[in-house]
Parts: sequence; structure tokens; C-alpha cells
Amino acid sequence: MSVNAHAGAPADFGPLIAGATALGVPLTAQQLDRFARYRELLLAWNAHVNLTAITAPAEVVTRHFLDSLTCAAALPAAVREGGTALLDVGSGAGFPGLPLAIVFPNWHVTLLEATGKKVDFLAAVITALGLLNARALAGRAEEVAQRPGQRGAYDLVTARAVAALPTLLEYCCPFVGVGGRIVAPKKGDLATELASGARAAAMLGARLLDPVPVTLLSLDDGRVLLLARQERPCPPQYPRPQGAPTKRPLGG
Ligand code: SAM
Repeated sequence: MSVNAHAGAPADFGPLIAGATALGVPLTAQQLDRFARYRELLLAWNAHVNLTAITAPAEVVTRHFLDSLTCAAALPAAVREGGTALLDVGSGAGFPGLPLAIVFPNWHVTLLEATGKKVDFLAAVITALGLLNARALAGRAEEVAQRPGQRGAYDLVTARAVAALPTLLEYCCPFVGVGGRIVAPKKGDLATELASGARAAAMLGARLLDPVPVTLLSLDDGRVLLLARQERPCPPQYPRPQGAPTKRPLGG
């Protein structure tokens, strides 16, 4: 990476530049421009649409952009380098799916979000950044998973801050092809969640893999990537209709 690639980046992008390099995805000048424009749009829209509680510009860089990129730490080289189909469930303002779309231009990224105004934001960012490999999809996972062409259609499904692990797995597993993965960034004490998550995963045709700790200097607060692998097609009765995955979580 030449020094010039970083010359025009905002002064507070240092942790993003260093963190992405440590994750093995050094950023180009165009990618840094896109992150700068994304932050401008996020903070401007956030004045009238409830997108994020993180409003300090430097924290958007670490706690949204870099935190999203940590998902790459959990992926084999073949997934990083291939034409991976990624679904980000409950994408909100685009995390982690949109930063991953910026950094992996050969991926095909779908951002699924239930709230219409957030979908409008996602579509506006995708257009403003000229991202040809990303699209925003409106709907709830429970309903979209039953649409033709959606079941088992993705190599990788991410979900951050959407639900506890058993509910999150019920949202995500129906979308994952056999051999594909789920990556869920989390924080805090996860022992109970992992135990019920393991039972839920078995019901959904998946298996939990060893969690991957996030070790970046600027995100050194106990973050971890929870991982699952889809071992066989998810049974057709999942996800159950809206409400059931949260009110009666699997594996409880
Ligand atoms: N993933 C983003 C992040 O980490 O910043 C957003 C997190 S926000 C706390 C949870 C988002 O998930 C909300 O935008 C909500 O509308 C969406 N969501 C919750 N349940 C969903 C479902 N079943 N299907 C689709 N979106 C859902």
C-alpha cells in the first residue's frame, strides 16, 4: 500500500487503515473515499432517521466500520477471494454488510432490513458510493426466507446486534447453503447463549464452530465472532412465523 493511497483520508481514519491492514485487507484510496462519504451520509441522515446511537465521527470509524471488517478474520481465503454471496440480516445502517461490500468488490452483498426508512438509507448509500455489488432488500427474515430463490442461496450470512444466538440462527440458517457459514459479531458473557445456540443450531441443520476473538488494538473490549457452519439444508418449518423465534427461542 503506497503512502499516497492514504493521503486524502480523514485524519481520524488511522485506526481503520491500521486495523484493515492487520486483518489482511489493506484499503485503497477509492475504498477510503467511500468510507468517508458513507460516514457523511450516516451522520446527516441520522439527524432525521434513527440509524445509530454512535454519533462521534471517530467512533463511527472504529465501532461501525472497523468492527464490521473484523468479520473477515473468521473467513477462509477461498471465501474472501471468491465471488461470495453474502446476506446481512437486520443490516440497520449497513453493519457489517456494507463495509464488507466496500472492501470485497467481488462479493455480491444483500442487505436485508425490516424498517423501511433504514432500507431507504441503505439504497441511498449504495447509489452515492457507486457500489455495483450491493443491494438493499426490504423485509423480515421470517418472511423473506420463504420467498423463491432465497433458501440456501448464500455462502455467508452475517448478523450483528439483531438477536440472541438461538433467534439469530433461526433467522439466518434458512438462507445458508450447505457448507456455508454464519458470522455473528458479539460482546460480553456468551456462555448461556452458546449453550442454547448449540442446541438451536442442531435443530436448524447447523453446527457451532469455535468462536474467534477480535484482537485489534482499537477494538480491545472483549469482542468475539460467533460462527456456525450449515451442515445440511435447514428444515422447511424454519424460520417459524414472525414472533415465534423471539418469543419461543429454539434450544431453550
Ligand atoms: N446490524 C446493524 C448494526 O449492527 O448496527 C443494526 C442493528 S439494530 C440493533 C437491529 C436491526 O435488525 C434493526 O434495524 C431491525 O429493524 C432489524 N431486524 C430485527 N429483526 C429483524 C428481522 N426478523 N428481519 C429483518 N430485520 C430485522
